[in-house]
Amino acid sequence: MSEFAARRAAAMAGLERIDAKDRPAGLIVTHLPNVRYLTGFTGSNAILVLTPGQALLATDPRYDLQAREETDCEVAVYKRYPMLGQLLPKLKRAGLKRWGIEAGHLTVDLLGVLEKGLPKTRFVSSASVVEGLRMVKSADEIERIRRAVRINSEAFEKAVEHLRPGISENFFAAELEFQMRALGAERASFETIVVSGPRSAFVHARPSGDPVLANELLLIDMGAHCEGYASDMTRMVFPGVPGKEVKRRYNAVLEAQLAAIDAVRPGVSSVQVDRAARYVLKKREMDTLFVHSTGHGLGLEIHEPPRVARRHGSKLRAGMVITIEPGVYIEGFGGIRIEDTVLVTGTGCEVLTPTSKELLAI
Ligand code: ZN
Ligand code: ZN
Repeated sequence: MSEFAARRAAAMAGLERIDAKDRPAGLIVTHLPNVRYLTGFTGSNAILVLTPGQALLATDPRYDLQAREETDCEVAVYKRYPMLGQLLPKLKRAGLKRWGIEAGHLTVDLLGVLEKGLPKTRFVSSASVVEGLRMVKSADEIERIRRAVRINSEAFEKAVEHLRPGISENFFAAELEFQMRALGAERASFETIVVSGPRSAFVHARPSGDPVLANELLLIDMGAHCEGYASDMTRMVFPGVPGKEVKRRYNAVLEAQLAAIDAVRPGVSSVQVDRAARYVLKKREMDTLFVHSTGHGLGLEIHEPPRVARRHGSKLRAGMVITIEPGVYIEGFGGIRIEDTVLVTGTGCEVLTPTSKELLAI
């Protein structure tokens, strides 16, 4: 059995855990990262239909050859839109009373198509069945993430050699992305963040045409996507000699980050990991400046379960890959965030990101 076939079997087994009165006998997968996870298909248009003993991948003519090459599923090619409408006869033939759907990834329009086409059928949200499987990575997935992390860190190291005050944030973001691709990444995992000075207090600011300023904080948040898998890292650079206040706040964030990493081990709730970071910042009276969660899972997507936040935690398991990224954001001063990609191991964790966490003065 291929790794993909095993994942599909696990997804079908996941349906079994849904309440008997709601339990669907088949699953309509419309979220592309889930389709990729279950089939290996990397194209941009597909629906996967899973029924007991069958996997049908629907796509359009652009992906006919590719789907047959990449997957071991039955492939159906549809020319007309919406594909889900074209699939109705096959869904009907399956004769199921209940289908699992991915409620977070199916438009109201398409649900309408299903409900109209299959009037005596119920559609049950089975949103977390595949996401739940994806949380724990296989050896192959971990290898891909390691590679994405390595490329990310190497690109940072290379690009930072050319970093000087005066070059624009955009220019440096492009340099980072160029290095990642030159080193073998498919693309950046998300729009690279390079923000200098007080604007770094905007947690997810976009790089601008403004210059990197001397004697101001510079926040760099970047990720590489390799063979479908993401990495994520944030580092702070200081062009100049950092003053007392910068150092004090930086060290507090670093201490919080290390405390959270220390808390990562199998069996622990991700909420406890979040709490460990918050506790350190509270002692320094900086907890109110920490306005986001401590981290997130990553893999085929840059943000995926589990959450590492105050609420809605998951029990950590060996094979999960998460980020640890506390930060503080101060109006008029700037933001400080330190982020690593971390693998949960059998006994604790391994910080995959090799880049130094000293405040980098250039
Ligand atoms: Zn990040
Ligand atoms: Zn992140």
